[in-house]
Amino acid sequence: MEHPIKRLTILGSTGSIGENALRVVRAHQEKFALVGLSAHSNYQRLIEQAKEFHPVVVCIVDEQCAERVKDALSDTGIKMYAGRSGLLELAARDDANLMLNGLVGTPGMEPTITAIENGIDVALSNKESLVMAGDLINRLLDEHEVDLFPVDSEHSAIWQCLIGEEMSQVRRLILTGSGGPFRTTPREQFNQLTVEEALNHPNWKMGNKITIDSATMMNKGLEVIEAHWLFEIAPDAIDIVVHPQSIIHSMVEFVDGSVKAQLGVPDMKVPIQYALLYPEHAPADWERLDLASLGQLTFEEPDLEKFRSIALAYRSLEKGGSSPAVLNVANETAVYAFLDRKISFDQIPVLVEEAMENHEHIAHPSLEDLLELEEWTKSFISAKLNLA
Ligand code: MG
Repeated sequence: MEHPIKRLTILGSTGSIGENALRVVRAHQEKFALVGLSAHSNYQRLIEQAKEFHPVVVCIVDEQCAERVKDALSDTGIKMYAGRSGLLELAARDDANLMLNGLVGTPGMEPTITAIENGIDVALSNKESLVMAGDLINRLLDEHEVDLFPVDSEHSAIWQCLIGEEMSQVRRLILTGSGGPFRTTPREQFNQLTVEEALNHPNWKMGNKITIDSATMMNKGLEVIEAHWLFEIAPDAIDIVVHPQSIIHSMVEFVDGSVKAQLGVPDMKVPIQYALLYPEHAPADWERLDLASLGQLTFEEPDLEKFRSIALAYRSLEKGGSSPAVLNVANETAVYAFLDRKISFDQIPVLVEEAMENHEHIAHPSLEDLLELEEWTKSFISAKLNLA
């Protein structure tokens, strides 16, 4: 079966998701036409990518690097955008029919919304988009008849398990999580954990922000919220099980007790390729799953006393409205403060909880409300840090 060519824009092309996406594009060049690439400040890599893949346009968000990109690409015919406004302009380009959002954190939300409003399907790696604005995004997807394809490995697994199934026959979703580097570390040591220890993830190679989120298990909490909006299922029908080997990427339990799982080696190229080439499973030459050599897969309950972020994420989802957005921005701000060595590891959930308790709740936040909440939450956390 022939599939139409994907006219692709990649936001965050020099990051971990973007680089893996370009490996997929390189392996299936006949299936893609590249419309745009964007990078935050890694202009050298962006220039190399532009010269290899010849997109219509590139965007460098850090305007201090704009001249260098412009000079390097001056004789290529590749157009250039710069700055945050350039990024939004790129997300709006409807000569693309698919945008991969591989941006890190809250800055990814608005470009997701912009692409949807311009009728462009989105392959979503930026889970913060749905955590912040799930309600708004779902309404816009309906209104603009746009599809959202999950890239997050757990959600890709659930998506694949649900193909051909009825949501009314689903009893629950079971998100798996590795438990991160501190799964077996006693809670008493959480105030002494270093940035280096937290960045040392056992199974997945990822950017710094998501690696710290995996260490606090806030990543799993954010994924519960993401799953709620993607699959339109109640929070109490989304469970978490710790699975240290990261081979089962998630599961769906049906009303008759049947459980479907999706498995594979922990390699983000698999869910990225599926999201980019959906509905096609295209050939690939990466490492294969070898169950016999793995020997065993193990499972355990998440420790909610130790990983308070999980409970906070469920609480925010039950409160609904603006609560998950505040949770998300507070977490992000606290994670960067930890990476900058301004707070200890165990202070991250404490700050998140304080921000959640102090914000003024909005039932159906608009984009403007969310952008204001982002500013409020950042100032709230900064003020706390200066007091401390
Ligand atoms: Mg994930």
